[in-house]
Amino acid sequence: MPVASALSADELDQLAEEAAERGEPTAGAAELVAVVDEGRLADPQDDVIALGLAAELLFQAEDLAGSLALTDRTADAHRAHGSAPDLVLMFRARLLFLLDRADEAMAELTPLRPLLTSDPDAAAEIAEALVAGGRGDTAHEWLTSAVDEARAALPETDELDEAGELATEIMYALVTARHAVRHELGLPHDSLDEMAEELEAAAEEEHRAELTAALSGPVLFFTATEFDRLAERLPDVAESCGPTWDDHRADIERILAMVVEAGITTARGIVPGSADELAALVAGRGDDPVDDVAYDYAEELADRGVGVPWPPARNDACWCGSGAKYKKCCLPRSRQGD
Ligand SMILES: [Zn+2]
Ligand SMILES: [Zn+2]
Repeated sequence: MPVASALSADELDQLAEEAAERGEPTAGAAELVAVVDEGRLADPQDDVIALGLAAELLFQAEDLAGSLALTDRTADAHRAHGSAPDLVLMFRARLLFLLDRADEAMAELTPLRPLLTSDPDAAAEIAEALVAGGRGDTAHEWLTSAVDEARAALPETDELDEAGELATEIMYALVTARHAVRHELGLPHDSLDEMAEELEAAAEEEHRAELTAALSGPVLFFTATEFDRLAERLPDVAESCGPTWDDHRADIERILAMVVEAGITTARGIVPGSADELAALVAGRGDDPVDDVAYDYAEELADRGVGVPWPPARNDACWCGSGAKYKKCCLPRSRQGD
């Protein structure tokens, strides 16, 4: 008899994301709550993740009362594990404001205010809650005084120890949240806003560089025959890069379309792999994560020069080896599931 396997934190994220993409946030929330209630968590401490995601989904579904109830459950779960529910309470305050329970919202937020200068996640959450309650002025006042306080903690050198890194991160969170609030209030740029925009641009550039690094490697591909073989030799790998060959092809087409959209020109294309070769490498590398082995295998294939250029011309044979024209084969796959 098949038994539903326990879900990891990543799988919970995926479940929530897919429900949101399908436009079924309420069903997704119910599913996540069921996972908790039926004890189907790989790690029981992940109930805070499942319940928190469910609360967000109900928020998306505009079921504010339902979201509030789940937020309370999430906060209780945090307390049961001995962890602080601070961020959950900030979200709870936002819900209370939206439910016209402003006094309760302020009672929730006020004791959390000191976190602005100690927790880098606090600034955006607190600001969003206050702005949702029409209290942009309060948000502005809190953030500005927190900036003054945080400035004193900033390190004077560029060589950051752990405390210095945290202080910098908090400063970034404060000035960017303050910048957003000031735009919301229609205030003109001041010198901190200039700084915020410079920092935001730098973070954007860093993000792009990371994305480039992640996407510019060769993409491992299995032809139809090799994919069947992969399902025999390494069923878990076939499952995660499929589960079907069509899914596999569609994923690759989508990844490469994304690379092009991000303006990354250094991508090294698609490398067709052999299921037997990969299985032999996996077997030879003992406890190494299969993902790492697959990554190295793709690099090795690229070094052998077996890459397939992408994209083909619309009327040329498709890169996947199906024999069909690209425009009738994988090109339209990139647009499925949008
Ligand atoms: Zn601005
Ligand atoms: Zn194709």
